Formats: sequence, C-alpha cells, structure tokens
Amino acid sequence: MTKKRFLIILIIFLLIVAVVLFFIFKPKKQETPITEEVQEEVIPEKFGIPLTGWELIEDTVRQGDYIGGILSKYGISSQQIHKVVEMSCDTFRTTLITVGNLYTIFYDTIIDDVPQAKIFVYENSKMKYTLYDFRNPDTVYIKRALKQIDTITNTASGIIEYSLWQTMIDNGYNWDIALALSQTFAWTVDFYSLQKQDWFKVIYDEYFVDNERVGLGEIKAGVFHHGGKELWAIPFVEDSVLCFYDTLGNSMRKTFMPAPLEYTHIGSRYSHARMHPIHHVVTPHLAVDFSAPTGTPVYAASDGTIVIRTYGTGAGNYVKIRHNSVYSTVYMHFSRFGEYQVGDRVNQGDIIGYVGSTGWSTGPHLHYEIHENGKKIDPLKFEPPPAEPVDSIHMERFNKEKRKWIDDINKIKLPN
Ligand SMILES: [Zn+2]
Repeated sequence: MTKKRFLIILIIFLLIVAVVLFFIFKPKKQETPITEEVQEEVIPEKFGIPLTGWELIEDTVRQGDYIGGILSKYGISSQQIHKVVEMSCDTFRTTLITVGNLYTIFYDTIIDDVPQAKIFVYENSKMKYTLYDFRNPDTVYIKRALKQIDTITNTASGIIEYSLWQTMIDNGYNWDIALALSQTFAWTVDFYSLQKQDWFKVIYDEYFVDNERVGLGEIKAGVFHHGGKELWAIPFVEDSVLCFYDTLGNSMRKTFMPAPLEYTHIGSRYSHARMHPIHHVVTPHLAVDFSAPTGTPVYAASDGTIVIRTYGTGAGNYVKIRHNSVYSTVYMHFSRFGEYQVGDRVNQGDIIGYVGSTGWSTGPHLHYEIHENGKKIDPLKFEPPPAEPVDSIHMERFNKEKRKWIDDINKIKLPN
C-alpha cells in the first residue's frame, strides 16, 4: 500500500467516523409539539366569491357615471352591456346606480392596460348588493343578494350623571341603546326621576355588515340600580312569546303605563280644589296635566276599546278608552286623533292621538284621567296591577335561565 493510498483510506474513514458521530451527538432540535390542531384552510370570500385567483378594483360611483360606462371601461363587450340593459327592463332596475355607492370589479387578466372585468358588484346599500357575472361570454348572470349580517352580542354599563342618554354617549355607546333600554324598563324605572349615581348594565345584540355597525338588535337582559333598588330585566320565552320579568318571575310590564306619553313636566296635579287657569274659579282637577310639545304621540295606557272619540267644548279633541269593567282612561286636548275609531280595539302603546291645545287649554298638554268604577282617581298615585307572571309550570326553566343571565350581567364592570 502506498502512502498516498493509505492517506485516502484514512481520510474516508475519518469522514465516515465524523458523519456517524455527527448523527449520534447531533444537537437535539427543539421538540416541536405535536398538536391535534388541524389547520383549516379558510379561503376569504367577498360577495360569496372565493378570492383566490382574482384581482380586485374597488371604487365609488361618481357624478355622471352610468353602469354601461363603468362596464365598458373594464373591458365588457357592448353585446354584454346591451344584455344588462335589456335585463334591467324588469322590476329589478339593475342599471340604476347612485352617486357615492361602492362597486367592485373582479378581474384576472389585463389586455392593453385594461383590466378585463369578469364580475361586477354594485352595492345598492350597506345591506344589499347586485352581482353581475360576465364569465360566460354568451350571457350575463345577475343576482341581487343581502350581504352577510353578523349579529354580535355586546354589553354596556354606566353611572348616571345627568341622563341615560348623556351617560350612553359619554361612555362611547350608541344613543339607540339608551332608547331601547328606556323602552325595556319603561314600566319599572321612572326615567324622569333618575338620580346621580343610579347605574345600569345591559346585554344587547348589534348588527354588523363588513365590520360596520348597521343597527341595534334586541336588548337581551339588563339591570337598573335606581333609587337604591335593583330592577332586573330577565328575558323568558313562554308559549313562544318573549317577555321581560323581574327575578321573581313577575312581568316587567304593568297593565297600565305610568304615563301615556313622553312628557316634559307635570303642569297640574290631581286636586279637589284648584284655581282654574281660564275661568279663575276654584274647581276640582281630578286628572293630571302632562306638558309636552304639540304633536307628541299619546299612547293607549292599556289594552281596551275606544268608546269616545269626538270634540268637546272644554275637552277639545278627546278620547275615552274602556279597559275592562273597572277601569277607563280619558285623554283631552289632542291636536289630532290617531287612526283608531270608536269601537276599535287598541293595545297598550298604540297611538290614539297627538298632544295639542284644543278646547279649554292654555298651552299644549295632555289632560289624563283614570276612572276606577266610574270614580276619577289620581293617575300619579295609581298602582296598576302587574301583567301575568311566569306560569308556575315554567318556573324551574325560568330560574335556570335567570341564573345564567344574572351571572352574565354581574360580570359586566361599571366604568370608573
Ligand atoms: Zn287638566
């Protein structure tokens, strides 16, 4: 064996040893955890079209734009544009576009610097769009559709400083939540006597399209801490009707609204001896006068039947509702009547007239009487009987659902 050959064999041998040693003492790689997670491939979509393979142009309809002009700018043939116009003669009116609305061009090729549109989507509104599909050169496919509306459950809370409305705004919530909340609690919270440090927590749904809020959904549940009392609104479906109850299962509704309108202040209270503002003689005022601007809607305080709807010298335009054998209510000085006629059934909250100053009246207000067995009682001291509570056969289910709502509401933190 020559020296040279020995050296070559030695080098090969050392290389083999090095390779073997490398694999034995190889620094162990950070062990990658084996997870069960299967990466699901999510293909993003827009207007129901998977976005793979497309280029998009998004733009806004400008003054002077018309659909044919936009389409021809993006390589759509005059024959296809003609078809779009033909198809728009139906009730669809598919060529009508509004300045400022959005549109999207889907294309996959560019010829002579012109992106060749295959799909054109015009957004009729925040919720609706019209899709024009030009992929088949012999025809045009047009579809009107609703965008995907996402319902998101959110929470709000606040401590009253001046008003519910102001507190909502100050805490960065939308004003419509204040309106919905005041409706949910209309029978249990007197929003005209909210006090500083009263507080609320509420769970509600909001609707979103493309991450943009398009509206308020339902109030789900809430609590109002008012005048030292905790007033709960627990939702419960009984016989497929959703109502709100307190924690004991009593209805949040009363058989009578506390006031049959949104008033600004109380003009005259119930009194057996009041100086009449027009006649200047002491006469009893067995009613309450709610001041409100002319045109403010007046609601039926409870379910009933309209028994009088006429003009009286003193009463002006007035309405009497008979609720049952015990109770009737009277509403005076309307500027105009609601749509209900004598003999019509009305439900609590139906508009029966609008505040005015007809008859003997010194300014726009509602003169409101409650008759109990024919006797005029004080509407502001009247404790109306509550509406039906949760049926005892559903109490177990109510208590279970109530627990969950209370837990969820209690998790909401009050702002500092
Ligand atoms: Zn009066």
